[in-house]
Amino acid sequence: MGFHSGRHFLQIPGPTNVPDRVLRAINSPTIDHRGPEFVELGLDILAGIKTIFKTSNPVIIFPASGTGAWESALVNVLQAGDKVLMCETGHFSTLWTRLAERLGIDVEVIAGDWRRGADPDKIQERLMADAGGAIKAVCVVHNETSTGSLSRIKDIRGAIDRSDHPALYMVDTISSLASVDYRHDEWGVDITVSGSQKGLMLPPGLSFVAVSDRAIQVSETGGMPRSYWRWDEMIEQNAKGVFPYTPATNLLYGLKESIAMLHEEGLDNVFARHARHGEATRRAVTAWGLDNLCVSPDEFSPVLTTVMVPDGSDADALRKLILDKFDMSLGTGLGKVAGKVFRIGHLGHFNDLMLAGTLSGVEMGLRLFGMDNAKGGVDVALEYLAGQAAA
Ligand SMILES: *Cc1c(COP(=O)(O)O)cnc(C)c1O
Repeated sequence: MGFHSGRHFLQIPGPTNVPDRVLRAINSPTIDHRGPEFVELGLDILAGIKTIFKTSNPVIIFPASGTGAWESALVNVLQAGDKVLMCETGHFSTLWTRLAERLGIDVEVIAGDWRRGADPDKIQERLMADAGGAIKAVCVVHNETSTGSLSRIKDIRGAIDRSDHPALYMVDTISSLASVDYRHDEWGVDITVSGSQKGLMLPPGLSFVAVSDRAIQVSETGGMPRSYWRWDEMIEQNAKGVFPYTPATNLLYGLKESIAMLHEEGLDNVFARHARHGEATRRAVTAWGLDNLCVSPDEFSPVLTTVMVPDGSDADALRKLILDKFDMSLGTGLGKVAGKVFRIGHLGHFNDLMLAGTLSGVEMGLRLFGMDNAKGGVDVALEYLAGQAAA
């Protein structure tokens, strides 16, 4: 690789750009995780993270990638042989299915075409047909990071309620938390899982599990054999500001800073910023003559946009060209859309000029890739960002 001056553009939909403030916070001496100074930090971040999930219940923090939170959600409330309903929205729902199956869980998948969010009506229909209550949980990925589509979490709660079914409701917010409106308590979610390296603007390494009273109750008498992923010891020790084993102390310094930054901006402003950058990006994609993988306008992701390349083009060759020429990383196509799409991340620590730079890099890359008509995308995005575009 040749030398690149200036900043690398990390425009994959996670890990995201880590703000200097967060990096500086992490760059502090590690302290005794059982000492008084830590207790203050522990109580602070454990209270702060609840405001991000919008819950008054415990949020459990594991030193792990988001996948660890998936596993913790399942092993604390389900047993081998239990049935769960998984909504196929893309690659990440497929990975969650595989993880559940490896644990011996019987996963029934509501198939999807990877171009929209989970369908509340189909969930309701399936739950209503399950009069015996065989389905123990419904699992949904809020923001499907492989496709750029958002599932309607509140509407799906409504569908579960209308079917009067006791299934637990589990939601993956690994790429939506702190970027898209989310309300764990108000939307009646039993288990919400998340991770540090996307909307929370931290490096990878922390995963989160928010729980409902009912999820805690079920975990007290149910669940699978488990140790590292247990909730009970965490909840008990967290109440005193400490952890049952060594926490990722320096990442927790960063978490304290990122929570502060989110509240300084205001969560609603954070969500509006992401929505605006999503809209500007989609306008650029349309101007380039390309298609968004997501086809459902009320489920467009504010976090990332997944762009389809014309048949016969290799999206990864385009990504490589853009990386070599302009030092920008774009997201690769995952699973069954590998090579057919690239993903533009517009989440986390991000602003209008960073988006303008990102879209400029994509537009130049498309032209160099031989797509001579890929013009005008940056112009329409700038017009929209400047507030001069028609609605
Ligand atoms: C990134 C992501 C994951 C995987 O998280 P890891 O931290 O890589 O384990 C799972 N689900 C969604 C929706 C994601 O975006």
